[in-house]
Amino acid sequence: MDRRKFLSTLGLGVAAAGVAGCSQTDCGPEGEQSSSKKWRWKLVTTWPKNYPGLGTSPERFANLVRTMSNGRMDIRVFGANELVPPFEVFDAVSRGSAEMGHGAAYYWKGKHVAAPFFTTVPFGFTAQEMNGWLHHGGGQELWDELYAGFNLKPFAAGNTGTQMPGWYNKEINSVRDLAGLKIRMPGLGGEVIKRAGAVPVQLPGGELFTALESGVIDAAEWVGPYNDLTFGFHRIAKYYYYPGWHEPGPTLELIINKTMWDELPEDIQAIIRAAAAWANQDMLDEYTARNNAALIELQERHKTQLRRLPDDVLARLKQESDTVLAELVAGNEFASRVYDSFLAFDKGVRNYTQVAELSYMNARAALTGE
Ligand code: CA
Repeated sequence: MDRRKFLSTLGLGVAAAGVAGCSQTDCGPEGEQSSSKKWRWKLVTTWPKNYPGLGTSPERFANLVRTMSNGRMDIRVFGANELVPPFEVFDAVSRGSAEMGHGAAYYWKGKHVAAPFFTTVPFGFTAQEMNGWLHHGGGQELWDELYAGFNLKPFAAGNTGTQMPGWYNKEINSVRDLAGLKIRMPGLGGEVIKRAGAVPVQLPGGELFTALESGVIDAAEWVGPYNDLTFGFHRIAKYYYYPGWHEPGPTLELIINKTMWDELPEDIQAIIRAAAAWANQDMLDEYTARNNAALIELQERHKTQLRRLPDDVLARLKQESDTVLAELVAGNEFASRVYDSFLAFDKGVRNYTQVAELSYMNARAALTGE
């Protein structure tokens, strides 16, 4: 059914379509939305080109948009450093030298202190809870408000699920063992380990292996087994720690230059919105499907030693996390609003996830002996 027939079936008529859906540049002479205009956009990413999950997901997003729009919106994806360095993605899209970007909001903490809330915060939401907050709990509205100040429109467009706090050559048996260790850890997790005595280092993924191998850093977190195996950290570090207190369910972002987004016709906007939502879930599904096989390969073939962070270390990190979050938002009206929204949603959602997911997983583990 074409658009005119569809609208007339709804009783809206063509005139209503003209009011609702057309701007001067996108409308044909009869007031219908043009289906012939084409866009060729650039999507710059913070990830190595075609990197599993993080880099392949924006490629799949671009392919889906191309198919759904019948070729009208043609997006070319660039890996880190192909057009801009990874940590310049935000600025490149903000000023419009690329129309779209893919990365993580916590890389932009220097732009605004509230940015990390839209990726993940220490001891924060799981992927499922994060999606609930963003899409049905007020998070997206706050994210829109923050990024509008940088002429950006953000979407959730991927999630790795709970990460791993990383690769070490030294066992962490107490908080004292963190003292002076140079650990690659982005976002607020880095600030937390600093309070616990470590030295946080910010590096893009593509530089991690060399930095760890050469001793520039002593330890590194990246993502989880599926991605960490690809980088080969098992060749240069002995211990692999869990649980991922620092990134319990990080959201990856699609950012779009807001001026260019606002000029798109509604149907192309709807296609991008739907494709981003699909990519957001699809990336999580990929990690869910791949992480376990990679973990088994690390342990059985490469003899990686899995270690759990001791309870007293986790307790100290939780205590420091609460302080870091409170200090971060203090005196900043917008960040305080984000934190209040986060805390309110956290309280409510946790009340139920503990009754539902947590108690189910505990029961399942007890009954199957694992
Ligand atoms: Ca990470």
